[in-house]
Amino acid sequence: MFSAVNADGRLIQLAGNYSKEKAAELRKKRWFCPVCKSELDIKLGREKLPHFAHKKSRLCPGESEPESEYHLEGKRQLFLWLKAQGCTVSLEPYLTSAGQRPDLTAENGKERLAIEFQCANLSADSLKSRTAGLKNAGYRPVWIIGAKRLKRLAAHFFRLSAYHWQFFEVNSFSALMFYCPDARSFYKLHSITPFYTGYSYAGLTTIPLHKANLKDICHREERHSVKLSSWRRAVAGFRTKSGRFLSEDAGLIRRLFYERHQVAFPFLPSEVFIPVSAGFVFASPVFVWQGHLYLRLAELFEKGAPIRLSGMIQNVRHNIRRQEIRMRYDSHEHLIGMAVKQYADFLCLQDFLRETENEVYMPSSQQKRPQTAEELRQRDRLFFGE
Ligand SMILES: [Zn+2]
Repeated sequence: MFSAVNADGRLIQLAGNYSKEKAAELRKKRWFCPVCKSELDIKLGREKLPHFAHKKSRLCPGESEPESEYHLEGKRQLFLWLKAQGCTVSLEPYLTSAGQRPDLTAENGKERLAIEFQCANLSADSLKSRTAGLKNAGYRPVWIIGAKRLKRLAAHFFRLSAYHWQFFEVNSFSALMFYCPDARSFYKLHSITPFYTGYSYAGLTTIPLHKANLKDICHREERHSVKLSSWRRAVAGFRTKSGRFLSEDAGLIRRLFYERHQVAFPFLPSEVFIPVSAGFVFASPVFVWQGHLYLRLAELFEKGAPIRLSGMIQNVRHNIRRQEIRMRYDSHEHLIGMAVKQYADFLCLQDFLRETENEVYMPSSQQKRPQTAEELRQRDRLFFGE
């Protein structure tokens, strides 16, 4: 951390432009933790910025984890940047009511932000309780993830794990914000749409620190439409190399399509790869939850029976209870209905379904299942063309 008090209670912060020499001078005095009052050391290592650390590793309510150089440097840069934005900034303030010490707080007119630059691991429970604590103390929490945790796997595709998904939830499913002190840039992932469990589409916006303003980091991000050419490449990738490592839920879909329609796994219909925005509520791959719906639709249509939206939603809930579809967010039930509705809307748009009455669907008459790999590719292009 950067802050300490001396014996007279004067606060000092090393985050400005303290040289090693100046910091070494400070070593001649005794410094104490502003939160727990225990004595601190000044660390002047070659690797890290000058900073304070507790002499004895004891439980301090203000200190959640040892700090890396990456975290210290990022916090220092964000501190200076927020000041340059004209905010009243506090570095590592201890919020007594919350019993928490966020990295930074910034006030600017009516907005009171608490900014956390999170680089270390963090459990979902601590994230939720820290978020609630900051809110109760009257701050709007802004979580910025260390960009070392940002992994791009292909154009527009990223590896997102449970670590990221928990921040997505506290951000009200809007976007994920990253910061890299080495590149001095923010990275914002938006329009996040999972394909496989750990492989998600997202739009990426890079904002260099010197061009960034406050609303870039704290405003809700509008959802943009998925870049379909990128999405289609992921579908093509599935068709060429699927089936190597299958999760249980994917294995079941493979078996069901083969048994009921004699469709081999790489030839799953285009209709089970629809990029719908609320699809992130499911942890199962996109073709799993949509595959179960597709099978149900096909079954009813053979009988010429219509289906209601509520029936489709019930069907998905049934699969969830049987653990054939895995959920990512158990506590956001309404998102299931939203995802299914978006799915039905897309199928209507592609003329696979017809909405005969409000939220009642019939199969469209002129549908023909692709017979060859080439016909399937054409259908993918039709579905996922810009
Ligand atoms: Zn302390």
